[in-house]
Amino acid sequence: MKFSVAVIPGDGIGPEVIAPSLEVLDAVGDKYGHIFNYVELEAGGLAIDHSGEPLPQETLEAAKQCDALLLGAVGGPKWDSLPGHMRPERALLGLRAGLGVFANLRPAALLPQLKSACPIKDEVLTASNSEGKAAFDLLIVRELTGGLYFGKRGRLDESSNGHSPGAAFDTETYSWMEIERVLRAGYEAAAVRRKKLCVVDKANVLESSRLWREVAAEVSKDYPNIETSYLYVDNAAMQLIRAPGQFDVIVTSNLFGDILSDEASVLTGSIGMLASASLGEKVQTGNRPGMYEPIHGSAPDIAGKDIANPLATILSAAMMLRYSFVLEKEAVAIETAVNNVLDQGLRTGDIASRSGAASDGAASSGAVSNGEKIVGTRAMADAVLKALEKL
Ligand code: NAD
Repeated sequence: MKFSVAVIPGDGIGPEVIAPSLEVLDAVGDKYGHIFNYVELEAGGLAIDHSGEPLPQETLEAAKQCDALLLGAVGGPKWDSLPGHMRPERALLGLRAGLGVFANLRPAALLPQLKSACPIKDEVLTASNSEGKAAFDLLIVRELTGGLYFGKRGRLDESSNGHSPGAAFDTETYSWMEIERVLRAGYEAAAVRRKKLCVVDKANVLESSRLWREVAAEVSKDYPNIETSYLYVDNAAMQLIRAPGQFDVIVTSNLFGDILSDEASVLTGSIGMLASASLGEKVQTGNRPGMYEPIHGSAPDIAGKDIANPLATILSAAMMLRYSFVLEKEAVAIETAVNNVLDQGLRTGDIASRSGAASDGAASSGAVSNGEKIVGTRAMADAVLKALEKL
């Protein structure tokens, strides 16, 4: 099969983590008989330098024409003093809105090889894991284009305690349609995972949350094989720390998803491993438009040093194969190759267990400790390519 992929390497470490990800995609294409045509586009700081705006119209239009978008990261100190609407990160909001990607999928799994990076005690992890392992594997589906971040907001023309305006407001509004489509994205993800879906809301207080529950009660009837449960967000925040193994898929609003997905990412230990997908409505062919990116930023502190971890972007490419192109075995091949490389003990500095090796660049390539070998971006990518070949 042939697919067109819009590629935005972006700024900082973006180009360094995107290049190996495209090589991995090509290797998967060769192995399984697919062709990926890349359309390289500019957004973020580079686009500001070249065309004066973070998201040139041509970039958005070209991205819309492609089957999916793979993005590295945007931003950096060079553009930090620009006004809000001109900052590189504005490109991300423009792309999400322009591509209509409303469901943000953020997996957070604790890989056994990286267990030492998890801040939770083993006995706490095993207690909630159905197989008694010190591990968890959950997926947060966050509604991305509605709710509090897009609702009516303002300041009230009244004064209090000598301050004027003395009040401000934001509103949480969700339509049935917005809730239904993100829930369906969650159920579809749960169907190919462990078949559990938890709706997280604040239905004891918020009217919009009560609508979430009504919609979930209706939509869940279409997925009888999936167990649906409900949790208030305050309890969910506690349960993520107390018993993360109980969760499979969590579906929640924009605000709650923003907070819970950051909480969950910390449990996995490293930002350099975490991939994400933002999905739009399924099109008739079964494919669905999507924007795929690592959750980390452009890491200007380590850019150009060949020490960035490319695995989050490589795993984002795997998500693209799974969710936009419906190529499950190809996605699993990438994930297995990454897993095998970690089994071999290869680590970039951010995921090495050696003390002081964290993402400050202190880890020197080639250093060996605890059976781990610290490697750079290029060597890690080469190892993944080799592992893919061997599958
Ligand atoms: P960051 O994620 O770029 O970096 C945080 C820390 O994690 C740094 O110490 C960095 O070296 C490390 N790190 C990040 N990715 C890594 C990787 N792949 N391998 C090893 N270490 C890694 O966050 P920040 O420092 O707050 O932001 C830097 C810039 O990125 C800012 O301009 C910010 O606005 C932008 N940003 C962009 C995105 C995006 O494009 N989606 C997301 C977040 C931040």
